Amino acid sequence: MSCNSGTCESGCYREEYSGDDVRHNRPLVTGNSQESNGVSSRGGYSNSHGLCIKCKVNETIASTHQSVAAGGGDSIRFCADCFRSNLFGKFRFAVTSNAMISPSDNVLVAFSGGPGSRVALQFVHEMQHKSQKNFDASRDRSLPVFGVGVAYIDESIIFPIPSNDFDSGLDEMKLIVSSLAPPAKQFFVVPTESIYSPDCAAGRDQLTKLASAVNDVTGKEDLLEHLRMLSLQKIATENGYAKIVLGTCTSRIACHVLEATIKGQGFSLSADIQYVDARWEIPVMLPLRDCLSEELNTLCSLDSLKTIEVFQQPRSGINGLIASFVKLLQHENPSRESTIVRTAGKLTPFCFNRIPEVGHDNGHLASQRRQKKYNLKPNESLPPESFCIICNSPLKKSGNTIFNDLDDGETRAAAACSSCQYQILPRDLSSLEYFYSLLPQSMCARARDSSISHELLRDQIQDCLLSDSNDGT
Ligand SMILES: [Zn+2]
Ligand SMILES: [Zn+2]
Repeated sequence: MSCNSGTCESGCYREEYSGDDVRHNRPLVTGNSQESNGVSSRGGYSNSHGLCIKCKVNETIASTHQSVAAGGGDSIRFCADCFRSNLFGKFRFAVTSNAMISPSDNVLVAFSGGPGSRVALQFVHEMQHKSQKNFDASRDRSLPVFGVGVAYIDESIIFPIPSNDFDSGLDEMKLIVSSLAPPAKQFFVVPTESIYSPDCAAGRDQLTKLASAVNDVTGKEDLLEHLRMLSLQKIATENGYAKIVLGTCTSRIACHVLEATIKGQGFSLSADIQYVDARWEIPVMLPLRDCLSEELNTLCSLDSLKTIEVFQQPRSGINGLIASFVKLLQHENPSRESTIVRTAGKLTPFCFNRIPEVGHDNGHLASQRRQKKYNLKPNESLPPESFCIICNSPLKKSGNTIFNDLDDGETRAAAACSSCQYQILPRDLSSLEYFYSLLPQSMCARARDSSISHELLRDQIQDCLLSDSNDGT
């Protein structure tokens, strides 16, 4: 349903999904026929002559790029230029209001070959290109230009791709990265198995064993996603990158919200759906959090941003069901995905869902100014006591005793969240020890280290909170 109101922020313009006109991407008919459909023009839609509703000068995408305008929605409202600047504006706002990229940073963009990460790469590149131009033009050259690297995680050991297709896909990727204007970007192609050891053969063996120890399709897919993050963290750490950028968009987050609900990850859900996720050693950024996959697809077609189809794996199990369910919902009402994300956005984020504050005064002041400007509340919540060993989700109960008692299978299972316990860990406690022995060292070390470091942080924050309240009373 749409509210059909000009002031509604949800973007639920009834016209978008009320008739066949839209699905066929023709500009809406005007006058009597519109009224006879019961659709008033109050919903913010007024391009009766196929003109862009923003600049009111250029023709809409639907008129100028008929092959592109598959999604309806924005293509019948905006011209290409306004659409582009609108989308880039959402990206830039996410980046600046969350302090995602600072001039001295090296940023690693995770590139899967899909439209989300393709657009993320393009936008990060455009931002870098602009800073480079400003740098060249400035006299004192005081502000450095942030660096950009690109990483592709090769998962073909788990999801095999015919070697011809793989090679040509990889060639296309290299071409995409190398043809972006200077500054040049480093491109990393790293197989998942390298999280075990530099010796790929040994790692491959270990990874294959781990994957085949998980019987559940959903669990296997989820595990691979966690390993992907570990791989990105490894590349970033080893090559001096300070931030990781993902192309996760509203549509993907909407799916994650429903997946997490079904898997019983309510406690940790809010950690996964924010702009910033700094629970990792290298903080992870989601600058496309407010962009729909349909918008990203449109931009890719509009600007001929090439995506690599052969690397796109259809989702399976619960994740696959949810993906098609959300797609159906979105088809019926184009504001559904945003609604799901906004609803879940009411959950309180964790304290690690922002860029960690810099120690020195300038950084602190800048951060305070930003908080004031964007009305963000300062962090007052305590960090969680422990994290799931598999997926790094914050856990409700303390996991401190877990690593002191390595032989006790039952205790160790408690280090995993209930979702991982159900979907990924073996049911049989006797095979649990074997399963844990197959996990990459970095996974176990991370769980242990983050537990200790967050304990320290908790103590520090607790002290501050006490002294604050003392001052106040
Ligand atoms: Zn326009
Ligand atoms: Zn977990």
